[in-house]
Amino acid sequence: MECIFCRIIAGEIPADVIFQDKDCIVIRDIHPQAPIHVLIIPRTHIRSVEEAEEKDQTLLGHLILVAKKVATKEGVSNKGYRLTINCGSDGGQIVPHLHIHLLGGRRLDDIMG
Ligand code: 5GP
Ligand code: ZN
Repeated sequence: MECIFCRIIAGEIPADVIFQDKDCIVIRDIHPQAPIHVLIIPRTHIRSVEEAEEKDQTLLGHLILVAKKVATKEGVSNKGYRLTINCGSDGGQIVPHLHIHLLGGRRLDDIMG
């Protein structure tokens, strides 16, 4: 298995897991860009938004609701936060396993590219 997120999900590589359920896992980013920077990762390997299909609709919606729950847990829901999905090379995607970044704890005006 080459995918780093699949390996984290399988427990082969350690990660700071802050939430998990049967469909996804939430870990702290190893190179945080904000005081709160976590990744919401589906357990199923979907390479990117481009590879997502109709059958993934419920899962993709679930990931956003998990992000909301985690934002509350991390104490950023009142002041706000940003959810980002990078897609492909121009989108800045490095890990080819779909994931949502949740960033918060500071103003984020500066990182829209
Ligand atoms: P992307 O650019 O693909 O949207 O984001 C990938 C993110 O995964 C980056 O922010 C990077 O810091 C993070 N990341 C890459 N490898 C690891 C890892 O092994 N552990 C954790 N916790 N985060 C990782
Ligand atoms: Zn994967």
